[in-house]
Amino acid sequence: MDIPRIFNITESAHRIHNPFTPEKFATLGNALRLKPGDRVLDLGSGSGEMLCTWARDHGIIGTGIDMSSLFTEQAKQRAKELGVAHQVKFIHNDAAGYVSDENVDVAACVGATWIGGGVAGTLELLAKSLRTGGIILLGEPYWRQVPPTEDIAKQCLANSMSDFFSLPGLLASFGNLGYDVIEMVLANQDGWDRYEAAKWLTMRRWLEDNPDDELAEEIRSKLATEPERHATYTREYLGWGVFALMPQLKLQKT
Ligand code: SAH
Repeated sequence: MDIPRIFNITESAHRIHNPFTPEKFATLGNALRLKPGDRVLDLGSGSGEMLCTWARDHGIIGTGIDMSSLFTEQAKQRAKELGVAHQVKFIHNDAAGYVSDENVDVAACVGATWIGGGVAGTLELLAKSLRTGGIILLGEPYWRQVPPTEDIAKQCLANSMSDFFSLPGLLASFGNLGYDVIEMVLANQDGWDRYEAAKWLTMRRWLEDNPDDELAEEIRSKLATEPERHATYTREYLGWGVFALMPQLKLQKT
């Protein structure tokens, strides 16, 4: 079981598999006011950067599940490197339907909401692992500018314009699903470059080493077209952020 090989190739050198930078994860960790011993569950944990750095900086206890064996292995290595291997556990598995044995303080899915079949399904899944008063984190794209045509949406690698909301639309949708938005940290265009442009050097080096691979033609063509596509479309039209949510509070007047 694994994710499509193309991602394991193009993102093999990424520590963070989304438009967040290390600084953004640090900002988010501080914004959440994490405490030592807080339990954090991360579905689609990638190479483990969020859990490992929060374990180092805030003393959290974390579990990450990811379907890429390469990324999971890198996450375990990173935990050792940062001296937090006793605090974080990384499991190579499909996270669909995963519910933790013990309820957690923070339940996250940062850039992988297809795991629960979309935002609503992922919120429902994460809520099953959450303690009362805990926080859900969702990393999700939104339209920074709503694309004027469906073709432009497709060039941003969306299936259609309706895949994503505008930022106000996304925030409103959380309310409609019964959640209060209690924090957010947004990526920016430099962050998109870190995520997208870092793939180009990886692809270039991989091509030098693997000219006869069955994916060589596909990667050759991506390397030729991705910089321009990214600069024209994703970088301009797509935003991305991590949203912190809690089930809506019903006021009980005393
Ligand atoms: N949250 C990480 C990774 C985001 S990229 C970070 O911020 O860096 C999306 C991740 O979801 C990839 O690591 C991919 O391997 C993982 N993934 C995709 N489908 C999955 C599934 N069904 N179950 C678990 N992980 C999955």
